[in-house]
Amino acid sequence: MYCQVIVDIVHENVAQAFTYRIPDGMVLQRGQRVLVPFRSGTLEGIVLSLSDTADFDPNRIRPVIRPLEDYPAILPPLMELAEEMAKEAHCPLAETLRLMIPAQMRGGRVRVREEEWAEITAAQEDVRAAMEGERRSAKRREILRMLLEKSPRRVSEIRDAVIDPRDALKALEKAGLIRVTRQESLRTPDGGMGGGNAEWMPLTPEQQEVMEEILPALQKGTGRFLLYGVTGSGKTEVFLNAVRRVLDMGRSAVILVPEIALTPQMVSWFQARFGAVAAVLHSRLSPGERYDEWRRIRRGDARVVIGARSAVFAPVEDLGLVVVDEEHESTYTSDHHPRYDAREVALSRCQRERATLILASATPSILSYARAGRGDYMLLEMPVRVQDRPMPEVQLVDMRRELESGNRSVFSRELAAALDGCLRRGEQAMLMINRRGYHSFVSCRACGHVVKCPNCDVSLTCHVSTGQEAARGEESLLRCHYCGHTQEVPARCPSCGSPYIRYFGAGTQKVEEEVRRLFPGTETARMDIDTTSGKDGHARILERFRSGAARVLIGTQMIAKGLDFPKVTLVGIVAADLTLNLPDYRARERTFQLLTQAAGRAGRGRQPGRVIIQTYKPEDPVLSLAAKQDYRAFFEVEFRRRRQALYPPFTAMMRLLIESPGGETAERTAGELEKQIRGVLEANPAWKKKVLLFSSELPGIRMLRGLERRQILIKALVGAETDALRGLMAGMAEASEKTEQAGKTEKRETGRADCRVTFEYNPTSMI
Ligand code: ADP
Ligand code: ZN
Ligand code: ZN
Repeated sequence: MYCQVIVDIVHENVAQAFTYRIPDGMVLQRGQRVLVPFRSGTLEGIVLSLSDTADFDPNRIRPVIRPLEDYPAILPPLMELAEEMAKEAHCPLAETLRLMIPAQMRGGRVRVREEEWAEITAAQEDVRAAMEGERRSAKRREILRMLLEKSPRRVSEIRDAVIDPRDALKALEKAGLIRVTRQESLRTPDGGMGGGNAEWMPLTPEQQEVMEEILPALQKGTGRFLLYGVTGSGKTEVFLNAVRRVLDMGRSAVILVPEIALTPQMVSWFQARFGAVAAVLHSRLSPGERYDEWRRIRRGDARVVIGARSAVFAPVEDLGLVVVDEEHESTYTSDHHPRYDAREVALSRCQRERATLILASATPSILSYARAGRGDYMLLEMPVRVQDRPMPEVQLVDMRRELESGNRSVFSRELAAALDGCLRRGEQAMLMINRRGYHSFVSCRACGHVVKCPNCDVSLTCHVSTGQEAARGEESLLRCHYCGHTQEVPARCPSCGSPYIRYFGAGTQKVEEEVRRLFPGTETARMDIDTTSGKDGHARILERFRSGAARVLIGTQMIAKGLDFPKVTLVGIVAADLTLNLPDYRARERTFQLLTQAAGRAGRGRQPGRVIIQTYKPEDPVLSLAAKQDYRAFFEVEFRRRRQALYPPFTAMMRLLIESPGGETAERTAGELEKQIRGVLEANPAWKKKVLLFSSELPGIRMLRGLERRQILIKALVGAETDALRGLMAGMAEASEKTEQAGKTEKRETGRADCRVTFEYNPTSMI
């Protein structure tokens, strides 16, 4: 017997499978991890297939050394998925297979943790007699006494009571009274945050209707749904009910949330209803926890998996349901190689494994809603909040007026007054700033000079020291969010020498300071990248707010979505238009989603909610539609705009990003590539009709990490994109002297060493 193995290294020279002999007595299956000899050393690999014969000299085929586990780490449908993804992304199978198992499992960096247990093996009376007869050793007597009380018992527990019990245990074992065994012990993450409700509540009529559509699909293992339910319409309760049915049928479910910040709440809700059957999988778990959760799922002990993007690869057998909550979030697409879109992967898994897919959002992505319109998804709607709770009242405040009337604070008078009222009534508030530290750049009041990163074409962000850091004499620092460069705030303007250089605008820290200054003694909690490092960072901060210990939660977009805090009656959006002007065709969609979602955090409980959106551009229709929380109107406007401007979903896009230390080289390469593309298109008239080429231009950020950047955008009319764009890419690869599969995205290096060109199909970011 032979097997074909994909070895775990990514290199074009080993992109194929290697044949190994299976030694007598060894049983292997497809998807199983094995250790194999490779060149002069050994490598881990995954069994791709088995065969009776080898296609070359059997004497030269080396044997498998050993299996790494006695079960296939990668289940058959996930093997197929990895193969499909590799084919689509034009990348080696070894790379997509890596997505299917925790990284630390590779190379044996994480192991099963074992614990010693002692248990009584003789009859109770014999043990009791032995204990009473034991004269020589107090240790042995104590151990027997403990085991008579409780058996089996952890040896670590015995060790707490008896110093160095090893010899005593051995002696007792030898006397045939007890047995000591090593057993696996699971490292279980504490992923929840409290506040889960164990009770099943009667469904609202809207929830009931939606369930009636979903249930038959669950039964049949079919159904692709887009659940469009306004904020506070009770989508989670729908998920919980659907999962209950799936579990009753003996099947499993995967619940995806867009980011780690939302796992604690979801985990609490699911654990409250389903207990230990729910597992959590995300990148912040310790390697041991991740490995153990993964195995708990693989063994079928955990049948509900909650996690961020990569949990879509969870090794559940008999998948019955995948839920993608907040499906509009861009975090569902990964920007690491190999790139994937968790929504597409979920769809593919559901098709292959006969499971139901539910995409859910209060602000569905334009793409998904358009697909629902075409009939690809069945649209389910929950247009009202549970128990007739009103949608929050939203008000736009023109910050230009505030400035004109002399208010330089980050809070408008309306927001300050509303916050005051909210706190006086004993309610809670959330304040959102679009981006961490965004706009808290340092600028010169005299000449307007902005302190920029020396490596990137972006302004540096000011991180004000917190109380403790300041007490230690640590100064404020300027930091680049792209490359990590830090420097001190200059005392004088580097451009004009003026001493009036200072930081400006509203970062999360600034807003927190302002709240504390205006409302002394108010407990605040701040959630941004700075405060959520560490494994339970998010859960800790959220729990402080949920329990009421903090009255005001300040944060970046992290706090805008998904969270359900019924005592919040006020949401303030400190600067609404920051994302509106990003050079990305999705900027309007993202801004609408963010504002609608943030507004949706208010008034989820018995008290009605109020939302104040501060902006410098109140006349923008995106803002007024978000204020009305009118998704459908926004969709119509945006859909039309995309059709006119030829953006997705009407076209597929490809971006060529050119990066080089020298601006001239970047420019020249861009020009050459453009010529090449035109050449390929000329040679393929069929594509030429479908492909629109945009000449090289400056991307949103001209320089990044010391590299000059240029981009070429190519669009193709939908329907033709797979052929035309992929064909074009292949044609270009042939045309360039040297092609190489390397690095992060779908990357092909041009002939020059000093210039890098990245091909991105449907780019996640346009900056
Ligand atoms: P969404 O995700 O749609 O924004 P949630 O699922 O967070 O909304 O639900 C909003 C609130 O309504 C939650 O506090 C939830 O406990 C409550 N809720 C949901 N369904 C019901 C129901 N059937 N009866 C009473 N309260 C409900
Ligand atoms: Zn200056
Ligand atoms: Zn930088």
